[in-house]
Amino acid sequence: MSVGIVGGGVIGLACAWELLRRGERVTVHDPDPGRSAGLVAAGMLAPTAEANYGEEALQALMLESMRRWPAFAAELEAASGMRIGYRTEGSLLVALTDDDHAEVLRLVDYYRRAGTPIEPLTGRQLRELEPMLSPRVRGGAFAPGDHQVDPRLVLRALRSLPIRFESTSIDDLSAVRDDVIIVANGVGAARLTGLPVRPVKGQLLRLRGAESLVRHVIRGVALGRHVYLVPRADGELVVGATEEERGADTTVTAGGVLDLLRPAADLLPGVVELALAETLAGLRPGTPDNAPVLGPLPLPSGVDHAVVVPGKPGHSGSVVAPQLHDQRGERGRRVLVATGHYRNGVLLAPVTAQVIADLATTGATNVDVEAFATARFT
Ligand SMILES: Cc1cc2nc3c(=O)[nH]c(=O)nc-3n(C[C@H](O)[C@H](O)[C@H](O)COP(=O)(O)OP(=O)(O)OC[C@H]3O[C@@H](n4cnc5c(N)ncnc54)[C@H](O)[C@@H]3O)c2cc1C
Repeated sequence: MSVGIVGGGVIGLACAWELLRRGERVTVHDPDPGRSAGLVAAGMLAPTAEANYGEEALQALMLESMRRWPAFAAELEAASGMRIGYRTEGSLLVALTDDDHAEVLRLVDYYRRAGTPIEPLTGRQLRELEPMLSPRVRGGAFAPGDHQVDPRLVLRALRSLPIRFESTSIDDLSAVRDDVIIVANGVGAARLTGLPVRPVKGQLLRLRGAESLVRHVIRGVALGRHVYLVPRADGELVVGATEEERGADTTVTAGGVLDLLRPAADLLPGVVELALAETLAGLRPGTPDNAPVLGPLPLPSGVDHAVVVPGKPGHSGSVVAPQLHDQRGERGRRVLVATGHYRNGVLLAPVTAQVIADLATTGATNVDVEAFATARFT
């Protein structure tokens, strides 16, 4: 079997690696891997703090993927011979004022009822763990199950594996000649599949100092403004991220930088001394229910295999019977979709890779992905 993957971001590459490990022939098509949202991402692996009311199926998938991360990280480092910055110190939820604290305590209660480990902490306990936090910090919590990785190192390691790359832009799935096609091109999947995947802009800063101000990932709320701070071993501090509905715009704005630096400095005053090394913006692939789309494209009744007719810019494509579309008389090919990972694509990469490789090779998976089927949007 040959597999063609559209998109060489963290999802496409994780799928490619898993299929490679199962002995399949894989080609990844991507004209510009530098566009990947993963190069902007902070790399929090946060099944606790990313859980939201009403998104229980998504949280279960995040926990499934988190369970796979230690082995995924170790095996990727072994296969590539490269470090990927996987760190397990856990995350601190940090609140500045009484109102912020009340919000964090409501979340702590929710996380607890969801069965994830979470431990409330006073301001003093937080400062014992992280002495550079502001003396004004009121309280928060410790989430030991939320880890982090450096997504740029993950992408570098995945790209070093013996995967075949083609720098072609796939604007029509019939251009992919393989038996199985995996659509994993992030926000670009809307045009190829007609699925409602939209770009959600995120601005993020990289600060740099001689040494780390903190050891833990800090997820803070200060005067109602949310921010996270992700320390890297080399002294980098990632500060993120805005969430903006602005289409495909990736402009870094003064307002975006201010919205991040203000709460960051309120919680960790030492950030103002750091060098502002990089400002950037990326596009998260979001869906109407914030959950990914995983699995075969839905087909018209009576059709076994899909061929997708591409949409023109601004219009979605559609799935048709191969006999209607494939003028050259070739057999239809299977099309699987893996996109819409929104805020958690890095976290969800290991479980997505398993699900998609299972579906590509056997047509079934034992991971519960019913809630993420493409059919919910058709
Ligand atoms: C600011 C920010 C912070 C984030 N923080 C985190 C975090 O802490 N933890 C976490 O888990 N996730 C985080 N994310 C989310 C994460 O980055 C995304 O969910 C993830 O990158 C999605 O991966 P993907 O491979 O589906 O898409 P992408 O990473 O966007 O990759 C898609 C690839 O497809 C290619 N492509 C597009 N169109 C075509 C085409 N027609 N033909 C061929 N190739 C094509 C592109 O060039 C690109 O390389 C963050 C995102 C942002 C923006």
